[in-house]
Amino acid sequence: GLQCGIVGLPNVGKSTLFNAISSGKAEAANYPFCTIEPNVGVVTVPDTRLDSLEALVKPQRVVPTIIEFVDIAGLVKGASQGAGLGNKFLANIREVDAIIHVVRCFEDDNIVHVEGRVDPVFDKEIIDAELQLKDLDSVDKKIQKVERNAKSGDAKAKAMLETLKVYKSALEQGKSARAVQVSPEEKEEAIGDIDLLTAKPVLYVANVDEASLPSGNSYSEQLREAAKAEGAEMVIISASIESQIAEMTDPEERELFLSEYGLTESGLSKLIKASYALLGLITYFTAGVKEVRAWTIRQGWKAPAAAGVIHSDFEKKFIRAQVMKLPDFEQYKTEAAVREAGKLSVEGKEYVVQDGDIMEFLHGA
Ligand code: GDP
Repeated sequence: GLQCGIVGLPNVGKSTLFNAISSGKAEAANYPFCTIEPNVGVVTVPDTRLDSLEALVKPQRVVPTIIEFVDIAGLVKGASQGAGLGNKFLANIREVDAIIHVVRCFEDDNIVHVEGRVDPVFDKEIIDAELQLKDLDSVDKKIQKVERNAKSGDAKAKAMLETLKVYKSALEQGKSARAVQVSPEEKEEAIGDIDLLTAKPVLYVANVDEASLPSGNSYSEQLREAAKAEGAEMVIISASIESQIAEMTDPEERELFLSEYGLTESGLSKLIKASYALLGLITYFTAGVKEVRAWTIRQGWKAPAAAGVIHSDFEKKFIRAQVMKLPDFEQYKTEAAVREAGKLSVEGKEYVVQDGDIMEFLHGA
């Protein structure tokens, strides 16, 4: 599945948020390094379109799609040099698809701030710098490898070396690899095989106190400016409010609670939406009487690749797909009526699956 790694300095509220969103068992405690193993929380993606499909199909079960959050604790200043639990965390970050960077935007004298004061931009830069230093290592190693070939006149190696130097200089200036402007081909050629940490898409989370909901405070404003400067998004969440919401099972009670803080949706829901947008994810559906189900794919995927998330055989032995649009299904009520109305399409290997498509795949045995 797609994974978002939650990073941030110690004591910024990562575990609190992680526990709330996954109702998992990572322990929140008021000291650094409390969560040693990376914890994976599986979160279902709420989608009202599933309710609509359920009403139409009346299936035996409805299965929402999921997104995984990994709590990557213990990233501290010096991690790239092995401080704290250093390299282990950096290795965990390497495995995720996107980074959710939690930044402390609340004051609380009882909760130790590892750098001594609340300063979200400074905090963010500490984490960024550690990731950038690690990436600089990776780029330097690659440069060493490529340099020999470039010197011997290999044109491809020379071009790659030039691109690598652009990355190197950006990282040395405290910029992240995702900010480097090169063509997709140059990027793939130069860093496609080294999986840089700061090339991963990032979403900032301003963890504010409950009094600062829903619109944030001066700390979250500072963070928003810093995020904006690098073209990244930020969402405002109160981890402690989220943990209270997570304990409420009654939807009405939850809604009432949210409205008391001027919120229309939970932080989790905001986080899921933002992660989807960040990763360019979309959802398609399968709608059988046994099971109505949502599946996550990336924007731009063609039908065979989309079928592949159900089963790899579906991709390999893909023949064609039948596509129905949800609004048509809602209007005509049955697949037969949609077909009758000429709204059911049959698509081949080149069809680009759209968000909300109801797919039925035909594949070879
Ligand atoms: P982590 O080290 O980043 O995982 O931080 P934790 O989630 O363990 O939180 C550290 C401490 O800060 C815990 O005592 C939390 O209860 C507390 N905390 C987390 N979020 C908030 C918040 O929004 N407001 C306040 N006042 N405390 C918080």
